[in-house]
Amino acid sequence: MTTRLRIAVQKSGRLSERSLQIIRDCGIRFGSDSRLLKEEAENFPLEFLYLRDDDIPRYVNDGVADIGIVGRNEYDEQDLPLEIIRDLGFSKCRLSVAVPIDFVYTGLASLAGKRIATSYPNILRKKLAEAQIEARIYEISGSVEITPSIGVADAICDLVSTGATLASNGLREVEAIYHSTAVMIGHQGLSQEKRLILERLLLRIDAVLRADDFKYIMFNVPKKHLDKVAAIIGGITSPTVTPLLDATWVAVQTVVREAQFWDVLEQLKTLGAQGILVTAIEKMAD
Ligand code: ATP
Ligand code: ZN
Repeated sequence: MTTRLRIAVQKSGRLSERSLQIIRDCGIRFGSDSRLLKEEAENFPLEFLYLRDDDIPRYVNDGVADIGIVGRNEYDEQDLPLEIIRDLGFSKCRLSVAVPIDFVYTGLASLAGKRIATSYPNILRKKLAEAQIEARIYEISGSVEITPSIGVADAICDLVSTGATLASNGLREVEAIYHSTAVMIGHQGLSQEKRLILERLLLRIDAVLRADDFKYIMFNVPKKHLDKVAAIIGGITSPTVTPLLDATWVAVQTVVREAQFWDVLEQLKTLGAQGILVTAIEKMAD
């Protein structure tokens, strides 16, 4: 029997689609009929387990799955001895304190003696302890945002990405205590055989993640500014420079970090760059 690496992925919810997309971008084919509990990839020794996100850390810890994709919040809340293998960057959200509109909030100290409802009691407890604040934490598994209006809690601590749900429940976000993205977690005692499969998978995932971090740009610029252009774009490799029919101009091609992209673009414009073309990179390997 061939050894397969087992990956636990959320069955349906905020993490599911991007988790599967990253694996698909790695050139791994599978049906992804996620009504199934389990399925095998067609062209890579990978097997999927589709689970509720809350269960994923425990399954990985118990060795039922070898690796899994969950929000960092879930990983930290459960505090199991697992390894974070990669930060995958998607499903960004924050765990925030929110209070009713008329609550006077001046900082975490305003929570002293209050009742706070949350699905993340461990993360919240740790944060309050660091700030030396004593409050009563009510652990609730869902619909945390309605607890102040029904008189169960004075404040809440919940995951937020845009804040729209809070506002519609008469709450305002006052402080983010924790930031999360999706992470790949792993069992610490993987067999040598499974480690090797994981390494092959990571080589591909890293190429996919790196490609997301960069843009490919092409533009024309007066040749006399080439030194300045090189200083601005830096680049991970030296840019490709091609002569143009008009000998006072050159064409430049290079990759730029997504995070620096707008800065770079503005600076290139001030140097008279023209015909700037930007494209996404699908994959980028070292
Ligand atoms: P399940 O049925 O699998 O238990 P769930 O309802 O607990 O699903 P989702 O709402 O799908 O879980 O959220 C999964 C993860 O997505 C969260 O743990 C968090 O890391 C991330 N996330 C991103 N944005 C948000 C948001 N606005 N609210 C809640 N979670 C978010
Ligand atoms: Zn869940």
